[in-house]
Amino acid sequence: MTAQISIQGLTKTFPGRNESAAFTALSGISLDIPANEFVCLLGPSGCGKSTLLGLIAGHEQPTDGAVVVGGTRVTGPAAQRGMVFQQYALFPWYTVEDNVRLGLKVQGLSAREQMERTERMLRAVHLWDHRRKFPRELSGGMKQRAAIARTLAIDPDVLLMDEPFGALDEQTRNRLQDELLSIWQGSRRTVVFVTHSVQEAVTLADRVVVMAHDKGRIVAELPVSLPRPRDRMSVEFVEAEREVSACLKRAESSNAPNVIA
Ligand code: ADP
Ligand code: MG
Repeated sequence: MTAQISIQGLTKTFPGRNESAAFTALSGISLDIPANEFVCLLGPSGCGKSTLLGLIAGHEQPTDGAVVVGGTRVTGPAAQRGMVFQQYALFPWYTVEDNVRLGLKVQGLSAREQMERTERMLRAVHLWDHRRKFPRELSGGMKQRAAIARTLAIDPDVLLMDEPFGALDEQTRNRLQDELLSIWQGSRRTVVFVTHSVQEAVTLADRVVVMAHDKGRIVAELPVSLPRPRDRMSVEFVEAEREVSACLKRAESSNAPNVIA
């Protein structure tokens, strides 16, 4: 099977005021993500997770190496790669419904298709009854569901999520994780989900990719083989959490490059 996303020797250096002030956020990252896999990028703040996601999205250009999606090198953003950020990027002056429909209009779908798809997505995230509300009238969790509906409506092959539930309380976060999984299981697509929560990674991922500081690198790739739905209280779940946590701690305390657990 060919990889849906192939990250090849990716390096990202941000220029400083002079050469010695340049900052390397990612150094020589390689990773293959097959179609339909749910991958979590886990690592401490500042280790380069958002930078990596931005490169996959095409918002940023690599200093060296390449991102190849579906056999084509990424050179800029595309509708095929949808992004959901931590801060719900909704247009405040549009209703929930119009926020979702706007992206479909841009895609050139017929008015009927726009309406049908908007309804399907808003029902999937349980916001159909709130479709006429404005973002300011919604809770944080509802706003984030609207942002997810808007991105999913475009039907991207690849869903890129940058700590989308990071600003929510635990109960809301858990519920949205379950909703996201049920949507993903209903219509599979490749997901790259950034988090710094071990519990979130173990809840969601087929595979957890652990990143560490020291010029942004991958230190481990841990498959999570627990069957879904996953019970966050089960012995197996807690055991998997412990394993991932231990790996993260080792990564943070180790300076050895490319330690694969
Ligand atoms: P994470 O998402 O894991 O918290 P980021 O990818 O946002 O980390 O950032 C990784 C490192 O790169 C950080 O040290 C950050 O300050 C730096 N960085 C990110 N974007 C820029 C930029 N545009 N210019 C300079 N440095 C940046
Ligand atoms: Mg980030």
